[in-house]
Amino acid sequence: MRLPKRRARWAWPRETDVPSELPPTAGLPLRVTDLLPGRAPFAERVAEWLQVEQLQLECSGTAAMVVALAAMKRLRPQRDEVIVPAWTCPLVALAIHRAGLKPRLCDLAPNHFDMDSSQLCLLAGDRTLAIVPTHLAGRVADVNATLDVAHRVGAYVLEDAAQALGAQHDGRSVGLLGDAGFFSLAVGKGLTLFEGGLLLTRDPVLRDAFAVSHDSTIRPDARMDWQRALELAGYTLAYRPSLLPLAYGRPLRKALAANDPVAAVGDDFGPDIPLHTVSEWRQAVGARALTRLPAFLDATRVQALRRVERLRQIPGITVFDDAPRQRGVWPFLLLTMPSEKARDEALRTLWTAGLGVSRLFIHALPDYAYLRDIVADTPLPNARSFAARSLTITNSLWLNDATFESICSVLERTVGQLS
Ligand SMILES: *Cc1c(COP(=O)(O)O)cnc(C)c1O
Repeated sequence: MRLPKRRARWAWPRETDVPSELPPTAGLPLRVTDLLPGRAPFAERVAEWLQVEQLQLECSGTAAMVVALAAMKRLRPQRDEVIVPAWTCPLVALAIHRAGLKPRLCDLAPNHFDMDSSQLCLLAGDRTLAIVPTHLAGRVADVNATLDVAHRVGAYVLEDAAQALGAQHDGRSVGLLGDAGFFSLAVGKGLTLFEGGLLLTRDPVLRDAFAVSHDSTIRPDARMDWQRALELAGYTLAYRPSLLPLAYGRPLRKALAANDPVAAVGDDFGPDIPLHTVSEWRQAVGARALTRLPAFLDATRVQALRRVERLRQIPGITVFDDAPRQRGVWPFLLLTMPSEKARDEALRTLWTAGLGVSRLFIHALPDYAYLRDIVADTPLPNARSFAARSLTITNSLWLNDATFESICSVLERTVGQLS
């Protein structure tokens, strides 16, 4: 295991002498040697690792979603709606809009990130093109429940596995139970090309349709190639506790001081969705980093399972983990507090402490100002409650046990005081 050694190196000369900041998620650190020139069949190597037949590389998870939905729309042109959980990444709504379709929001199940199945039944109908179960925080969503509904109305199931590359259900990769699925390779989601996405389907008809959709939607873009290359090199250098105060902590604290939590977590997306190819070089970087990913996922998993047990001892807190037959991945721990007040009180000290405690999506989708014209505002009590009560703790290997314990103490104290 190389990771503990790296941890010691980043702490040099002494932990207290240098400012340090933990990232909110466990991204796989890149090495300068990953950046050497070269070529490698990146998507093929990931497919081999996941034991899936084929993966289609796109420039982001959002782009993968646009390509997939455009293909589905061509196959079932009379359908124009896509059902998504009301608490998810705002890019999902933007991708649906970009594909010329309408998002329909399904409320969450009570105190859970899965869609409420009775509401899902009511929303699904002959206009439904696709339903998008979402594997949030590396946890495995209930795809089977979605499949029942989707097949009854003749809709596709597109698994959003943006946060779950490497997660398995019944020993097989997520994304294979539904008709299709996609992974994100954005910064903060584990393996990164700075931005990237992988599209997966077990259906040969969809596979061909995705390839056609790619050819008609995606263009080479030399300027974006350069921009992403520089961003990826910047990530390689800056993704370490000694430099994250500058690259992550400072903008975070500035946004929070300006009372802008949406900017603080990077939820402030514009309507423009880049749709371009991924350079050979970035694929080679990804292929080199990929060789370290399985060991990294094992190490983060061991750490997470221990910490989930610890968090379980705090009354009133729900921490999400795997059901039998599921084996998720662990970029961070997702938990809910008993009330918004308790969550906010805990974050008052923890969010700016540099310990990797943060929030996932700030709002239910209708509450983002920039989505107002794209999603309808409906009563979504469970999604809004989840947004108000949830927080995340990084599962970076740089978060040591003593610091994790200090986070637990704050949570314990907060719940104790406020209940
Ligand atoms: C990040 C994310 C996306 C979009 O992926 P990008 O690669 O950032 O475009 C979609 N869905 C979820 C749940 C995400 O977290």
